Amino acid sequence: MESQQLLQIANEFGAPIYVYDAQKIESQYLRLLNAFSKIERKQINYAVKALSNVSILKLFKKFDSGLDTVSIQEVQLGLYAGFSPNKIMYTPNGVSLQEIEEVAALGVQINIDNLSILEQFGSKHPKIPVCIRINPHVMAGGNTNISVGHIDSKFGISIHQLPHIFRIVENTGMHINGIHMHTGSDILDIEVFLYASEILFESAKHFKDLDFIDFGSGFKVPYKKGDIETDVEELGKKLSKRFLAFEKEYGRDLTLIFEPGKFLVSEAGYFLAKVNVVKQTTSTVFASIDTGFNHLIRPMLYGSEHQIENISHPKGKERFYSVVGYICETDTFATNRKISEIKEGDILAFRNAGAYCFSMSSNYNSRYKPAEILWLDGKANLIRTQETFDDLLRNQIEITI
Ligand SMILES: *Cc1c(COP(=O)(O)O)cnc(C)c1O
Repeated sequence: MESQQLLQIANEFGAPIYVYDAQKIESQYLRLLNAFSKIERKQINYAVKALSNVSILKLFKKFDSGLDTVSIQEVQLGLYAGFSPNKIMYTPNGVSLQEIEEVAALGVQINIDNLSILEQFGSKHPKIPVCIRINPHVMAGGNTNISVGHIDSKFGISIHQLPHIFRIVENTGMHINGIHMHTGSDILDIEVFLYASEILFESAKHFKDLDFIDFGSGFKVPYKKGDIETDVEELGKKLSKRFLAFEKEYGRDLTLIFEPGKFLVSEAGYFLAKVNVVKQTTSTVFASIDTGFNHLIRPMLYGSEHQIENISHPKGKERFYSVVGYICETDTFATNRKISEIKEGDILAFRNAGAYCFSMSSNYNSRYKPAEILWLDGKANLIRTQETFDDLLRNQIEITI
């Protein structure tokens, strides 16, 4: 989006505020779909946890996307947005058998990631088809926070436990209709991803009635200059070829599934915040903005570097700033960052604010969660209002003291 459009939104609706560009979401969706144009049966399941506003879900519904969900509440949001249950995949980890049964009863595809639940679920409901989440123990990316396929990860059933899975399937007579992996949040190296896929194909051979293979996600998008981006087209070329060959070998048509969150919505999002104070200390110039990690926690939680632009004065002389929040703790968004000269009252725009930004926000410091805008067909649509004082008190019960 243009800075001018963003500035106008901040003026009209106030800041802090999240803005999402529907066209960018669509182009990312189509880009991934086109990368796999050789595959007839394919589905993209948008990972709801990245950005779960119902209007965003409805946008994905319009694309004919499916959903990837990790809680029964996300499933319910998907159903509320109009998705049919068979377009929803449920991939929880560490949740109760009871929740899994409730989701299964809704007709949603269950994906199980541990032997204990697999055995209990299979014994009780042998007729309900189940997908299994395999951990291929492949490290994609270098950061153990976001690489979930490695040996110490809590996610998935270890590839080394395949014999145990076979025994459970045989003993319960359950139907495994899909096989899944989600190795982490960064496919930096396509070869590493293809290697993990080979392990998945190898495992898939042992199950006779598969309908689909789900390759999870891990697509990387650029955050700052020089960042490597997953070469989706190259991945599409290589994996499609391998997938088609596997289908032949397997002797049955299969659906190829991916379930990206970040790839689809990260770059479509902007977070706009107003500068409250410019504070010069002996060593640093701080720009204190009217928000904090209650609204955007990724820089503090993951060290992610969101690009920041001064959209009020984009052409000003560039200076170095530390951009900090208003929370009474250290909440540094950026240190020593070159930004066009900042004046109090200016609006700063954070890029890559679509994925894991609003959805991770909180009311810490008793602040309101911000509003959200969907920029659709050249129009700013308010899709969430800023919270009010009533929201802070909601669910609290005042007792007489
Ligand atoms: C979070 C998650 C995703 C999406 O990951 P991104 O890095 O946002 O693409 C996909 N699958 C599962 C099971 C997840 O938990």
